[in-house]
Amino acid sequence: MPVCTRWPILAPDMTQLKVFLIQIYIALAGWLAGEQVLEAHLQTLSPAPADTLTALQVSPPPAPPPKVESGPPANNPQFQNHQVAFDHSGKKLNLIFAPHPDDETLGCARLIRSALERGEYVKIIYLTNGDAFSKDNPDVSKNYGQTRVQEAKTVAQRLGLQPDDLEFLGFPDGYLTQMLTDQGTITSDFTHATATPEGARYGNLRYDLQLFKNTIKVVMGRYKPDRVYYTSRYDRHPDHQAIAQLFEDDLLTDPKAYPKTAFYSYIIHRHRQPGWYSDTVDEWKLDLIREFTSQRHDRQHEVFLDTFAKQKERFTLRRPALYKVPEI
Ligand SMILES: [Zn+2]
Repeated sequence: MPVCTRWPILAPDMTQLKVFLIQIYIALAGWLAGEQVLEAHLQTLSPAPADTLTALQVSPPPAPPPKVESGPPANNPQFQNHQVAFDHSGKKLNLIFAPHPDDETLGCARLIRSALERGEYVKIIYLTNGDAFSKDNPDVSKNYGQTRVQEAKTVAQRLGLQPDDLEFLGFPDGYLTQMLTDQGTITSDFTHATATPEGARYGNLRYDLQLFKNTIKVVMGRYKPDRVYYTSRYDRHPDHQAIAQLFEDDLLTDPKAYPKTAFYSYIIHRHRQPGWYSDTVDEWKLDLIREFTSQRHDRQHEVFLDTFAKQKERFTLRRPALYKVPEI
């Protein structure tokens, strides 16, 4: 009886039969596994539910670099109620951008007092709540930010400002430079937030470049300031550099931008501060600085903060007003 190699079941050798059955088993198992792989692959090709689409797009193509915009803010409904200009006709308006609650006092307290004494308006825009505190507990960081906001309000009142002279934008402390360069939405490792918190001046805004830039444009459009003061691009703190970079590398590159406004920078954290420590102490300013108790973590911080209580505040004209409004 011929032995059929295709049908070894007919062969008398049981070892061969066992080998054949094992081969069938392996082939069947492989086929089934292949079906599963194919099925999984097909699932990725079929339209995905909206909430899983982002997860599947692991490697999106690189987005183009952000464009310089000179037009009005994007048609964001949250900005719709904030387009009305603040009427300060007949009075100069000074707009101070403070990256964190205390920068306005450390860098501009005497300037604020002088402007108010001249009968001018002063508005302070706090870019963040200063909530970069603990990466272990987002609630602790948020509460710390609220403490700093309250300290700033207390000092502003002592300076002679009204509550509506202050705007707290709520962008992420420690991430302003990253917001200028990264594509997409930023997440704060401190608060775990991806958008401005409840109580922020312009509502719940995603942490991204476009909304950050549009918010600054809305602020500029509302106040139409005569003078703007922002922290210097030569400051050692990245958040302090960011607002200068936004103006100088973006918003002010339009030669027609804000023609009636003069732009000044002030510096908080210097690389070298010649003469800084030998200046005369201003007891009035020292008293204000000491209101920021959240920043006085230890003796070293206390000494450092107190060094800002000097009689000289330094400002650098970064761009003059392009033309002057005639005096009436
Ligand atoms: Zn600061």
